[in-house]
Amino acid sequence: MSAPAIKAESHVIDGKAVAAAIIENVKQARDQLLSAVAVKPGLAVVIVGEDPASQVYVRNKGLKAEECGFHSVQHTLSADIGEDELLGLIDNLNEDPLIHGILVQLPLPKHINEKLVIAAIDPEKDVDGFHPINVGRLGAGAMEDALVPCTPAGSVILAKQALGQDLSGMEAVIIGRSNIVGKPVAQLLLQENCTVTIAHSRTKDLPGVCRRADILVAAVGRPQMVKADWVKPGACVIDVGINRVDAPEKGEGKTRLVGDVDFADAATVAGSITPVPGGVGPMTIALLMANTVIAAARASGRPDIADGVKNL
Ligand code: NDP
Repeated sequence: MSAPAIKAESHVIDGKAVAAAIIENVKQARDQLLSAVAVKPGLAVVIVGEDPASQVYVRNKGLKAEECGFHSVQHTLSADIGEDELLGLIDNLNEDPLIHGILVQLPLPKHINEKLVIAAIDPEKDVDGFHPINVGRLGAGAMEDALVPCTPAGSVILAKQALGQDLSGMEAVIIGRSNIVGKPVAQLLLQENCTVTIAHSRTKDLPGVCRRADILVAAVGRPQMVKADWVKPGACVIDVGINRVDAPEKGEGKTRLVGDVDFADAATVAGSITPVPGGVGPMTIALLMANTVIAAARASGRPDIADGVKNL
């Protein structure tokens, strides 16, 4: 069955292309760091257990770090590792001068306290931006010191690519209030001078709230929830969701990825929209590389070298 036609003016935002441009910036900053202070950015990724999706994410992060010419290290720990052992590894990585970024792949097994682990990472090496100090810096607008979470930063860059760099005065609605996506997206859009609403599972008349948005960000985890009649005509729709659903049309037992937005439906109304896959997903990994080169530049006393790495 073919998808409904997309309105001629609806513009599909190419996350892969924007991510590739960020990666080019990262490579340039890496070269400058090497020639100015002989520092190669180093990224350590820690994975606990054998969750197949996490393994794919971690492998992709390692490959991208290598493509960027980073020093790239992966620590694969068994699912029954003790919390102390994991905290000990983080201590070692905190002290390792060759490592500028540490990422612990979430979720962690139930017996490990995730908050404790995140808080153990040196905030200057916290390239996921989840440490309470970086959360506070983002909230306080202390961007020169903050490491900003990757998916939210990537989402806002895509909105700016679609709408122009100045988002001042625009109505932004974010569906989802998680610490890792919804809240930091809201903080970033507030810093862009948007008027921000955060919607969640208790929001009344969610479609009506969404229809107010010039920028609608969906970070819910519910496949294809946002329909065309939730979207203000001409709005920019950023779909953060990644959901795997059955795809019997591809064969028995096959699956496919869809977002939180019903793309074919919403694209008939939206002015611009991110696809899934190929929208926010590639941005997340590109921003992780950007954060690593930013952390390396700051640690080397040359923050200026990575200043513009997220600017396109
Ligand atoms: P969480 O489950 O932590 O948060 C989901 C949010 O959506 C909650 O705030 C919840 O509200 C809200 N919500 C749930 N159901 C509804 C509903 N029916 N109506 C309105 N709001 C609702 O998810 P995450 O923020 O971690 O992730 C969101 C999505 O983004 C997922 O699909 C995830 O896979 C994807 N993701 C993608 C990434 C990428 O790289 N592209 C990275 C990270 C996540 P309440 O707080 O009231 O429960």
